[in-house]
Amino acid sequence: MVGIEPLHNLLTIYACGPTVYRYAHVGNLRTFLLLDLITRLAHLNGWKTRVIQNITDVGHLIDDSQVDAQGEDKILEQAKLEGKDPFAIARYYEAAFHRDLAALNVQPADVYPRASESIDLIIDICKRLQDQGHAYVGSDGSLFFDANSFPTYGAISGNSLGHLRPGHRFEGKSDEAKRFHADWALWKNAGTDRAMTWPSPWGNGFPGWHIECSAMSLEHLGDSIDIHLGGIDLRFPHHEDERAQSNSAAGREVVKHWIHGEHLLFEGRKMSKSSGNVVLVSDLIERGLDPLALRLSFLESRYRTQLDLSWAAISAAHKTITRWRSHLAEWRSIETTISEATQAWLTHGLELLQEDLNSPALIQLLRRIEKDETTPPDQRAIIFDFFDHFLGLDLGRLPEHESSAEIDALLAERESARRNGQWKIADELRNALAELGIEVRDTATGQVWEKR
Ligand code: AMP
Ligand code: ZN
Repeated sequence: MVGIEPLHNLLTIYACGPTVYRYAHVGNLRTFLLLDLITRLAHLNGWKTRVIQNITDVGHLIDDSQVDAQGEDKILEQAKLEGKDPFAIARYYEAAFHRDLAALNVQPADVYPRASESIDLIIDICKRLQDQGHAYVGSDGSLFFDANSFPTYGAISGNSLGHLRPGHRFEGKSDEAKRFHADWALWKNAGTDRAMTWPSPWGNGFPGWHIECSAMSLEHLGDSIDIHLGGIDLRFPHHEDERAQSNSAAGREVVKHWIHGEHLLFEGRKMSKSSGNVVLVSDLIERGLDPLALRLSFLESRYRTQLDLSWAAISAAHKTITRWRSHLAEWRSIETTISEATQAWLTHGLELLQEDLNSPALIQLLRRIEKDETTPPDQRAIIFDFFDHFLGLDLGRLPEHESSAEIDALLAERESARRNGQWKIADELRNALAELGIEVRDTATGQVWEKR
């Protein structure tokens, strides 16, 4: 990875994790996949990694920018809607998040710290910031970060304080409690009639969303972190505020590289609950699509460009994976040595990835090698197997011919019609199978089929 040089070959990464009040949609998963791609490439480079991804189970209010005590916490609102305990909601959706990651072959982080279990750490850093003069108590008893105490505010996003207009961030009642419009709450004083609150030097309350990531990243990775990751919408204000907090507390530039994944659109619009175009991993499974088809769809575009996804694109990716798995099963040979030409392909493919994760170029390269008659099959297998350590598409898995008794019977009938030269019947059976989503092709050695 150009420009990234981990000390002692250990790459440290902090990734902002999910707010666990609903199922992650595939847009969220595109961002979470970026962490996996960087980690897998680091391993191919022979580096070790230490990866932390937090679980936000308190403090993320419905409007991210709204941090007044009256603002509704996303988890508390969902708990009310479902008539359940807020912690039960958080644990339920946290487990769903881990299942989704597993379905996409995302390798687990080393630690998934929960905000609700890091309250002591959060209070400690808040106290430190207050002692250092970076934080003050507002007129509502909440603790605020003094944005003007951090001169390089805006370095990540370009939103320097001088250019921010009052009102860019609505903070409800807090607006009156703080000194400057761009200050934000570190700890919200919330009284006792609210769920998910903890005692603190600033009264009973709960942490702001931004401070949890500073507290957890410094605790688990120390004050020098190679990479901090998140979706593009987190660049401002979340990461800008995190940087101000972490650097002020540590007295140094904590994060070397801030990396942001661009958004996923679906059929032309940004995927979000409010746009009403949310797709979940379970929706793919219901349509008979391999969740790894989603992974391939993501890999086919650069992480830092917007990707406009559609069902047709996911289905096409499903077909590609199925075809690659079949090929690989045929191509592999037990005794094989790597040729010089293959070594050159491997080096070239790796170079593409080092160039800011150029996964689409790698996929194009593999498509070329797939058809390249001058590369012997066993060598093609070596190349596909090697890059699957990065792609994570389980290409070694035998293709699943998802079948049913009805499909099996129709296929058997068609094969016998074909053998007997009953072409009209064979065609009718092909159409019947197409209606069931099965595409049949005739080859020199018999009929082959795949799910569309
Ligand atoms: P949340 O659980 O809402 O805190 O979001 C989790 C992650 O998903 C964050 O890093 C967001 O930046 C990211 N995210 C939200 N919407 C999208 C989208 N449509 N495409 C890609 N990433 C997204
Ligand atoms: Zn964060």
